[in-house]
Amino acid sequence: MEQKNGAIIRARGVRKTYDTGKIRVEALRGVDIDVYPGEMVAVMGPSGSGKTTLLNTLSGLDEIDEGVIEIAGQDLARMSDRERTRYRAANMGFVFQFYNLLPVLTAVENVEMPLLLADRRTNPKEARRRALEALEAVGLADQATQLPGELSGGQRQRVTIARALVTNPAIVWADEPTGDLDSKTAQEVMNLMRRLNRENNQTFVIVTHAAEIGEQCDRIITMRDGLCENCEGFSNRNGRETVSERQEESDERDLWPAG
Ligand code: ADP
Ligand code: MG
Repeated sequence: MEQKNGAIIRARGVRKTYDTGKIRVEALRGVDIDVYPGEMVAVMGPSGSGKTTLLNTLSGLDEIDEGVIEIAGQDLARMSDRERTRYRAANMGFVFQFYNLLPVLTAVENVEMPLLLADRRTNPKEARRRALEALEAVGLADQATQLPGELSGGQRQRVTIARALVTNPAIVWADEPTGDLDSKTAQEVMNLMRRLNRENNQTFVIVTHAAEIGEQCDRIITMRDGLCENCEGFSNRNGRETVSERQEESDERDLWPAG
């Protein structure tokens, strides 16, 4: 699969304006970004600076006005809605506030949903087995049959993470994943994401306000007034060699596992 300069996420000149009739907001004003396979990148910056818009557009949930976004060399904007939805379901995981858990479904039912959506041929027993495995990975094997309302905030967020990871996606997008959690639970959730990032070489892009979460990522991208700072550099901590080594490792692994 073609990937210019090895980036798994590549954005150039991305512009996005919200026009509600009364007001016009330039949420993204020409953003260039490269993220490399296996990186864990934090997106920080003041409220209203465009962080959520950045995640929504990079992941193809939302359209852009100008620019190019390529995911593993593919331009999502050129796909039909249907193709894009499928592509996302198979290759991306979302830990978003608005991707709430369905209250009438148990934890395991919530987690297996993306598997059933990504591929309608998925055998329900196999989906259940993998959902239970994902819940076990986040330490919630015993809560599988509980409803979201019976779980604590931290447990619910871990169910969301299990759901984001059950398809073994190449990229995980997280928008304030620890925003509603106390600092101890937030750290547990962060440890879990970091472990999964390292073990599976999955790429994480995490929007966060918390400096201590940002510091634990490989690199911090700062958004300010619809522009990003330091978003093209290689990971500060790991340097160019480490990243290209990781790139080789990830070339060996199937970049887009069948699901
Ligand atoms: P952040 O996540 O950094 O707080 P957002 O990406 O949510 O920032 O918002 C960036 C700017 O775009 C803000 O000024 C916000 O008010 C505006 N905005 C975001 N979503 C919409 C929308 N759906 N309609 C109009 N304006 C929006
Ligand atoms: Mg936001």
